[in-house]
Amino acid sequence: MSSDMGADSRATVTNVQRYSLHDGGGIRTVVFLKGCPFRCPWCCNPENLSFEPEVSFKERLCIHCSPRVNGRLCEKPVEDCPTGAKELLGRERGVDDLLDEVLRDRVFYEESGGGVTLSGGECLSRQRFAIDFLTRCKQAGIGTAVETTLAVPLEDAAALVSATDVFLVDFKIADRARSLRVTGIDPRFAMPTCVSFLAWCRVIGRMPIIPGYTDGEENVASIIASLCDLGIDRVDVLPFHQLGEGKYESTGRAYACAGMRQLTADDVASVVRTCELAGLKVVVSGE
Ligand code: SF4
Ligand code: SF4
Repeated sequence: MSSDMGADSRATVTNVQRYSLHDGGGIRTVVFLKGCPFRCPWCCNPENLSFEPEVSFKERLCIHCSPRVNGRLCEKPVEDCPTGAKELLGRERGVDDLLDEVLRDRVFYEESGGGVTLSGGECLSRQRFAIDFLTRCKQAGIGTAVETTLAVPLEDAAALVSATDVFLVDFKIADRARSLRVTGIDPRFAMPTCVSFLAWCRVIGRMPIIPGYTDGEENVASIIASLCDLGIDRVDVLPFHQLGEGKYESTGRAYACAGMRQLTADDVASVVRTCELAGLKVVVSGE
C-alpha cells in the first residue's frame, strides 16, 4: 500500500458528491479518496480500490474512432475521447483546493445540520491528508464525518478524533478468520479504536447485508452483540445492491457478485427487527 504520510497533504480524489442525504446527517458533500488495502467481494466502489489514477472504458459510448491497442483501450489520450467512453478516474488534489470546493455548499450544511463526509476506498489510508482536510473543515465551521473500516493503523488518533464529529464504522464479518480470508479486514483491529473514539465523538455502525457473505443469522447476531458491547446505539443497515456492477466492467475488473440474488424486503426487515430488539436505532440505507 502506498501512503502519503509525511508528504504534502495531497491525495487522489475520484469524486466529490454534492447534496448527499446519507453518510452522516443533513445535506452533505461526500469526498471519495482513491485506494483501499482491502478487497470485499461485493465492493460497490471498485474504482476506489487502486491507489493510482486509472482509465475506465465504457464500450457502449465508444464510436471506434481510434484503433485499440490491447483489445480494450484505444490510442487516443483520455482528454481527446469525443464521447466520454474513456474517462480518467482519480485526480490528485490538495487540501486547499478541495476545501474551496466543499465550502461552496456551506449554506446547505448550516441549514440542514450537514457537512462533509470523507469516504473511499479506505480514506484513512491517506491519513495525513484526511486529518489536514478534516481539520480545515472544522476550522471553517463545517461538520465532519468519516466512513471507515477503522482497520488500518492510526498514526495520530488524537488529531483525527478532534477533527471528526462522526465516525461511520463498517461491521461486515464478525468471525476474524473468515473476515481476513474474505475481505482482508481484521475486525479485532477496529474494536479497541472504536472504544477509545466513543469517549470523544459519535460512532455509528454500518452493516452491509450481503447474501452469502454477511447475512447469516450468526454473523448478524455477532455484529449486534459487538455493537451493544461497544456502546454504539445506532446502526445503518446497507442492503446489497448491484449498482457497482457496471464499474467493474468499465475498469476491467472481475466482479465476484455478478448475478447474485437481491435481498427481499423480508430479508432486510428481519435484520432490522433483530437490531431493534437489541435496542439499536436502525437506519436502512436507500429509504
Ligand atoms: S477515443 Fe473514445 S470513442 Fe474513440 S475509440 Fe477511443 S474510447 Fe472509443
Ligand atoms: S473496505 Fe470498502 S472500499 Fe475497501 S474493498 Fe471493502 S467495501 Fe470496498
